[in-house]
Amino acid sequence: MTVVNENYLKLPGSYLFAEIARRVKAFKDKNPSADIISLGIGDVTQPLAPVVIKALHKAVDEMADASTFRGYGPEQGYDFLREKIVKTVYHAHGADIAPDEIFVSDGAKSDCGNIQEIFGTDNIIAITDPVYPVYLDTNVMAGRTGGYDETKGIFSNVVYMPCTADNNFVPKIPKQHVDMIYICCPNNPTGTTLTREQLAKWIEYARQNDAVILYDAAYAYYITEADIPRTIYEIPGARDVAIEFRSFSKTAGFTGMRCGYTVIPKTVFARTKAGEKQALNPLWNRRHTTKFNGTAYIVQRAAEAVVTEQGQKEIMQTINYYMDNARIIREGLDGAGIEYFGGINAPYIWLKTPNDMKSWDFFDKLLSEANIVGTPGAGFGPSGEGYFRLTAFGDKENTKRAVKRIKTKLTL
Ligand SMILES: *Cc1c(COP(=O)(O)O)cnc(C)c1O
Repeated sequence: MTVVNENYLKLPGSYLFAEIARRVKAFKDKNPSADIISLGIGDVTQPLAPVVIKALHKAVDEMADASTFRGYGPEQGYDFLREKIVKTVYHAHGADIAPDEIFVSDGAKSDCGNIQEIFGTDNIIAITDPVYPVYLDTNVMAGRTGGYDETKGIFSNVVYMPCTADNNFVPKIPKQHVDMIYICCPNNPTGTTLTREQLAKWIEYARQNDAVILYDAAYAYYITEADIPRTIYEIPGARDVAIEFRSFSKTAGFTGMRCGYTVIPKTVFARTKAGEKQALNPLWNRRHTTKFNGTAYIVQRAAEAVVTEQGQKEIMQTINYYMDNARIIREGLDGAGIEYFGGINAPYIWLKTPNDMKSWDFFDKLLSEANIVGTPGAGFGPSGEGYFRLTAFGDKENTKRAVKRIKTKLTL
């Protein structure tokens, strides 16, 4: 008999976006003329930058000629890309990272999902709550989390770190020992960040406890405030304990192109059961070269264009467009008297539901009264209950119209 990986059966149904679609459809069926606007989009909407399009065309032409055609490339990514990433993203912020510490991939979702493979299954993971679901679910699949408690919505062997308005969305350092710490900063879904000082405490914890920090910086380019680190490697000591995930998706509109990268400094170590130190960079290199055959050449040329001076200028125009939407949403919520967080260093606004409504009740109210779709916070973890996510990825006119409706149609 063939048996399945029963860890998969422990995963509660991922019903968040399916349930949103179901409720929107039911509403539309009853109200066919309703003009629904979505502020729930988790995908970018603006086109690629001109410099990227130019690089793509050139790379396509190279592929049409035998003398410039490229087949398999290095699994870790081409040097032309790794070197420019190091210079533009890391050296520019005083972070000491080398090209052979960069692993180019098809995106950060795969990387932050796959990274757990190089760690032992006995490790204890710590995640913030609410959280981007990939970190937890991939650890469930690997058997690292224990069983699921349906009434509490938590796994028995996971250390959850609630992040709510009560603690200013700053996860508390756990009292018990943990081995793998997932931090997403700027955060999806809360849109909040940690300062250099707050993050430094985590690095200190990791150094003292022989733990590794898995740092998802997918939204780093949205940071506007000076005291938020642009990369974890700005902070002294991070090179010994942190792995950083990056993506061109939200940064440069690459959600349909697929390119990201993982940074593993050669100085990050874990241990064998016998207690010997083992560097993680060669383990990830082994995993990557065995299971991945490289990101498309034309996509890497497009990503290279992003990490040039001109590319950085052009992508910032689009990021500023989204962040102006975030401002419009924030000001609208101020006008409506709704409390919210985020939206300053991230394209996400995390609002506190008025009168302590349940997330899903607020979803229904916003849909029926203002015809606006957002994302219930409870879908991101138990501590997301009572919160609601709006995103700034929409188009400006629709964002303005939506905000006006929140102010005029929503009864509080
Ligand atoms: C969108 C997102 C990613 C990943 O994106 P890819 O398209 O796979 O590169 C990773 N982490 C967070 C928190 C995200 O929101």
